[in-house]
Amino acid sequence: MTVAVTVSAEARPRPVYELAQVSKSYGERVVALESVDLVLREGEFHSVIGSSGCGKSTLLKIMAGLTPPSKGRVMLAGTPVLGARADIGMMFQQATLFPWRTTLQNILLPVEVREGRAAAETAAARARILLELVGLKGFEDTYPSQLSGGMAQRAAICRMLISEPNVLLLDEPFSALDEITRDFMNMELQRICRERNASAFLVTHSIAEAVILSDIVHVMSSRPGRIVRSIPIALPRPRTLDMTTLPLFGEYVGVIRGLLDKGAFL
Ligand code: ADP
Ligand code: MG
Repeated sequence: MTVAVTVSAEARPRPVYELAQVSKSYGERVVALESVDLVLREGEFHSVIGSSGCGKSTLLKIMAGLTPPSKGRVMLAGTPVLGARADIGMMFQQATLFPWRTTLQNILLPVEVREGRAAAETAAARARILLELVGLKGFEDTYPSQLSGGMAQRAAICRMLISEPNVLLLDEPFSALDEITRDFMNMELQRICRERNASAFLVTHSIAEAVILSDIVHVMSSRPGRIVRSIPIALPRPRTLDMTTLPLFGEYVGVIRGLLDKGAFL
């Protein structure tokens, strides 16, 4: 399958992330990432897909500035990423809400930590709007133990969005959810990104999820993690769940599955 990309250089949105020859070794034996090059542009949604242990989380942590690369360069909005950044939103596999704080208090935590309690009180109105957006209206004063897994993840989305980041780094954020909730959350994620023209980089091991959400899917090999192919997905926006029945969708899934099956030989 060939997909023509006919966007001229001038018409392309500006780069948000630029990674050049990024490698990461843990000690002498584990090469987790090797020579990763990628450019994530404003408003784009990219996914990286690969088998467990291939270096996806390592890549995301490097992009977030949580761990330094062994080699190579990471630029965010034109400046080098040298440490943790406050201007990006991150979300992980587990919602990691604090059990002793209510839903609302959990969502306001990043504001409180960064700007103090008064700023958090001001942000409460915005937090309530976000809760409504993700269908959690009425659960403001509920503690995490009383939320289902899906509800906790939705609260975690609100916590990520309260700081209004333009860049979202997502590490399998919905993998603990049942399929129906997960589909719903993915469509919510798309809507939120489009409304804010946010750029997103998602780690996943679901091929279907990568294809339905992404403008580009980066397929990673295992040991060492390298991007073996970056596949532009030419499905129209906004994406809808019924697009998963289109022949083109199936073709993309087939191509990616083929690349992953070759796995370690690439
Ligand atoms: P993925 O997210 O794709 O499952 P990771 O990025 O978590 O993969 O890990 C890639 C490789 O690096 C694995 O072999 C893992 O064991 C190793 N690794 C990850 N983090 C560390 C660490 N802090 N110290 C040593 N090895 C690590
Ligand atoms: Mg991981």
